Amino acid sequence: MDKKYDFLIVGTGLFGAVSAYLLKKKGYSILLIDKRDHIGGNIYTENVNGINVHKYGAHIFHTSNKEVWQFVNSFVEFNRYTNSPVANYKGRLYNLPFNMNTFYQMWGVKTPEEAKAKIEEQKREYHLENPKNLEEQAISLIGKDIYEALIKGYTQKQWGRKCTELPAFIIKRLPVRFTFDNNYFNDKYQGIPEGGYTALVEKMIEGCEVRLGIDYFDQKEELDACVGKVIYTGEIDRYFDYRYGHLQYRTVSFETELLEGVENYQGNAVVNYTDAETPYTRIIEHKHFEYGTQPDTVISKEYSKEWQPGDEPYYPVNDDKNSELYAKYKALADAQTKVIFGGRLAEYKYYDMHKVIERAFELVSGI
Ligand code: FAD
Ligand code: UDP
Repeated sequence: MDKKYDFLIVGTGLFGAVSAYLLKKKGYSILLIDKRDHIGGNIYTENVNGINVHKYGAHIFHTSNKEVWQFVNSFVEFNRYTNSPVANYKGRLYNLPFNMNTFYQMWGVKTPEEAKAKIEEQKREYHLENPKNLEEQAISLIGKDIYEALIKGYTQKQWGRKCTELPAFIIKRLPVRFTFDNNYFNDKYQGIPEGGYTALVEKMIEGCEVRLGIDYFDQKEELDACVGKVIYTGEIDRYFDYRYGHLQYRTVSFETELLEGVENYQGNAVVNYTDAETPYTRIIEHKHFEYGTQPDTVISKEYSKEWQPGDEPYYPVNDDKNSELYAKYKALADAQTKVIFGGRLAEYKYYDMHKVIERAFELVSGI
């Protein structure tokens, strides 16, 4: 390679793409590489019969940060999609997150006062002043009936552990509302990029040199020699050759099917199967993210799995053991002068998309 670049960005996911855009605007020359054969990292959407399929899991953009919202809308238009999943518990349907619709479906209560009284009545039996785990926290928030039907089985499948063995904070991520409002998020802005996330990333990296199907570690010396600095968005433990051992992740596998001639399979983008017996946690019907009117549909069943080295790393495991291990790798990363570590894998953090963008803004502003 004879050409020189100011920056090599390893990874064309959202972190790499936002950094590339901002650095290009500052006048730097950039080479982007990715080991996959497509751009976009985990937000990549693949067009199947006109439907944008969220290949690595359903992604809904939400933020309360106006600057971030305006930033993403400057590349592509976002639609008005509002995530309102439905839960299927043994054939009966309930609205999520937990709100007046759910309380009505579960107990027939029609007012917030009646719903609160019902939850209080169920809580009283358990004496839960100080919830110590996810089960206690859930019962103290929404009572035993909803916990049993909509949380217990789903959580057990998703995390591979009993609710009594999981931290309470996980369930606090979900809103509990005494209004008839099925919006899964509380953020001010929400939507899906028209044309899918791949179109968003494409626009961000327009004008940058991109090489796909290249694993950084296969050509590290050669690549490092022709760039000023490196922005690395891959797994931090891999960068240091797993010197202290592997960081753990939670992984998901997707069973995706094209249903030809089926126009509308389930009437909603997201349906959670909250019983313990159904092997998958949810079914995604991708066309509904964009109000698709195609004659066919594509669905994905999601199975939560215990992660093994070599599996796709999805969610970092935020327990003490992994946090301590990450701290050791971070100390090594901080000592690097030519390499900047950023994004979900390099910082071993569960970042939502808007948080990844905020982080890239912060990191590049210091360059
Ligand atoms: P990534 O997207 O993982 O990109 C890293 C890139 O680096 C990859 O393309 C990878 O191939 C490449 N790479 C790694 N190592 C190398 C190497 N050695 N050489 C070359 N290339 C390399 N966020 C939301 O806001 N809303 C949601 O609804 C939502 N849903 C999610 C659902 C799932 C199942 C998951 C896992 C995440 C979800 N997220 C959601 C989070 C979102 O996916 C992340 O915020 C975002 O994708 C992180 O971008 P990133 O660039 O940091 O990482
Ligand atoms: N959850 C549940 N039933 C549902 C949806 C979610 O019990 O129908 C629980 C589950 O434990 C999950 C947590 O709520 O981990 C947070 O939900 P979220 O949708 O934020 O999960 P994520 O997949 O983003 O971790």
